[in-house]
Amino acid sequence: MTEAALRTADLTKRYGKIGALKGLTLDVPRGAVFGFLGPNGAGKTTAVKLLLGLSRATSGEAWVLGAPLSDARRHREARRRVGYLPELFRYQGWLTSREVLALHCELMRLERPRWAAEIDRALAVVGLAGRERDRVSTYSKGMQQRLGLGCALLGHPDLVLLDEPTSALDPVGRHDVREIIRELKGDGVTVFLNSHLLSEVEQVCDRVAIVDEGRVIASGTFDELLAGDSVRVRVTGLPDGALASFGAQVDRDGDWTVIRGIRGDRIPDLIAEVVRLGARVYAVEPAHESLEDRFLSLLGKDQGH
Ligand code: ATP
Repeated sequence: MTEAALRTADLTKRYGKIGALKGLTLDVPRGAVFGFLGPNGAGKTTAVKLLLGLSRATSGEAWVLGAPLSDARRHREARRRVGYLPELFRYQGWLTSREVLALHCELMRLERPRWAAEIDRALAVVGLAGRERDRVSTYSKGMQQRLGLGCALLGHPDLVLLDEPTSALDPVGRHDVREIIRELKGDGVTVFLNSHLLSEVEQVCDRVAIVDEGRVIASGTFDELLAGDSVRVRVTGLPDGALASFGAQVDRDGDWTVIRGIRGDRIPDLIAEVVRLGARVYAVEPAHESLEDRFLSLLGKDQGH
């Protein structure tokens, strides 16, 4: 199984004058937990809608579990193996969660003898067992989100698309969802996660793509994406440009000099060079670049420290 779980090639979508996607090219390997990140309006939901056949692309191609969008029959077949949790979805308040799950079993044409076991499993996984005979209108937002995740897991999908799966959850619920995602990965399921919560993505994803204005601006594993370590040095008497060879980027901020993209094992050489130049060192603070730092610098929103 070498084919990607999801692939897009130059996918575009226009809504009148608005270019929601302007040539999206993505590759999500099988079995990955893939974070799809971007600011509001970047095109994330549009991409998911195209992948699921809920909206038609203006141009370009995409493959879901190997089936191209342009082959409607194969794509429809592949979609039966995909679970989807939409963002901010409202379920029918007059139904119980057991009834909502049964409705989804029917919509996905699951064989009826499997329904009870699938529903029990989904309720147990998302922590709603015991509340399944209560009406959805009596559920908190977090419980409704858990129900949505349960719907996405019915029928043992090979690929699960989760659009902001934890936006309504408390810290315990977020932890539970991370555990569920890890278990899915353990079972070989590919998870495609749309999230604004960068720390969450860092904890659970093994690769990410950052999208802005309808295009991927960076992608890869965290090691590939994050420039490496950085170090902040409070120093006086340092000539301008003296440390340029030590990192990918060197910035001055008053007495502080920030060196980004330096390998941790070069920090002693850096300090030796500072001292050799006759400068005085007051503090050395190594730091690992976070996904948030990288995200903001890619979007041109970093503060320069
Ligand atoms: P968010 O993080 O806020 O959910 P997003 O990355 O999911 O944002 P999209 O919802 O895909 O972004 O929107 C991308 C662009 O396409 C935006 O400029 C949006 O206004 C526009 N857009 C999305 N859907 C439609 C539509 N049905 N009609 C017109 N414009 C649309």
